[in-house]
Amino acid sequence: MRFVDIPGQQGVKGMLQGGFASGKMAHALLLTGPEGCGKLPLAMAYASLLLCHQPVENDACGVCPACLKVGKLIHPDLHFVFPVINQGGDSEKNSTDHWIQDFRRAFLEQPHMEFENWRLAMNADHRQANISRAECYNILSKLGLSAFEGRYKVVILWLAEFLGDAGNLLLKILEEPPDQTVFILVSAEPEQILMTIRSRVRSIRIGPMDSESIRLALLGMDVQEQRAAMAALACGGNFHRALCMMSEEPFENSVRWTGLMRLAYSGHQSEIIQWVNQNSELGREPLKSLLDYGLHILRECYLYREIQRDPRSLREDEKEFVHKFSPFVSAIALSAMQTALEKAAYRLERNGHIRLVLHNLYFDLQEALVSERRRMAKASAPQARRSTKEAILQFPMP
Ligand SMILES: [Zn+2]
Repeated sequence: MRFVDIPGQQGVKGMLQGGFASGKMAHALLLTGPEGCGKLPLAMAYASLLLCHQPVENDACGVCPACLKVGKLIHPDLHFVFPVINQGGDSEKNSTDHWIQDFRRAFLEQPHMEFENWRLAMNADHRQANISRAECYNILSKLGLSAFEGRYKVVILWLAEFLGDAGNLLLKILEEPPDQTVFILVSAEPEQILMTIRSRVRSIRIGPMDSESIRLALLGMDVQEQRAAMAALACGGNFHRALCMMSEEPFENSVRWTGLMRLAYSGHQSEIIQWVNQNSELGREPLKSLLDYGLHILRECYLYREIQRDPRSLREDEKEFVHKFSPFVSAIALSAMQTALEKAAYRLERNGHIRLVLHNLYFDLQEALVSERRRMAKASAPQARRSTKEAILQFPMP
């Protein structure tokens, strides 16, 4: 992983590369930022740069023996610490070393992965994950050895918020790391990290990835232009989610979303149960992508209603939905439905029960639509109401 392989984030890249070039880099860094902003890949790119034998323009060369080893996550001077599930008893099984093969596989498949992906890779179910005291002792003993290749020793501590009190064991080494040792902590929730740790590291806050960089990166991966534009807009600066969208069937989100909105309008209980049952099997990431998609489409509906902006980046069937559904998406309705989608996304992220999350989402969307129809009934003539109802009932069913 090199800096050049990561879309956008020029400011952070510049900071890290500048520190390396001047030789004045911090020996304990904390990279924080929202999901999919590129924080783990940036940590890897920085580690690659430190370990590379012949850096080119402040980026790893990507071809030297060190880069090849870093690329496979097998460089002897690159150490990882990350949360693992506690399998009880045998502490050997509860260590990063035990899970390193799985971690390599997961990272190489999805370099922008987040904890949720890692939890799935570990088959964690509802078991808790953490970074244990034993793990901290383990890393301390590894750092006691000299560097195998005589250059830097780099520790990437991914999801440092899982350290808990065990983190106190690392305070001394973070404050005074051995020579040529660099700690890169990575966290999605820095406020959960012990203050004693935070005060000993240089924090770098990373913002969401900009949509234009995401769009260009997707185009570079031979994604079709329209899809790249749509995903870049819908992913909310989360490159990981944009990539997930690419692996989904292009029609699935729109078919699911149209189905949900039609049901929210018609209120057919048996059908909504069916919809929830079908879609709860999808898993959290595809559902989050569906929620993002829904929000994107609702915004298009609102823009079409208010300023007749035609949704250019959409397919024909999606445009048809926007044209038909836009009468229901006033500013008030948009706000209510947006809140419903954000609430569902939040609950999915917090491991809420998936069926319950989807049922609640349905009820919230239905309530937003019912209220909007009441407002429309008050404001407009019966004639207009009938025609909009006829329009929505013509939506294609999933
Ligand atoms: Zn190299």
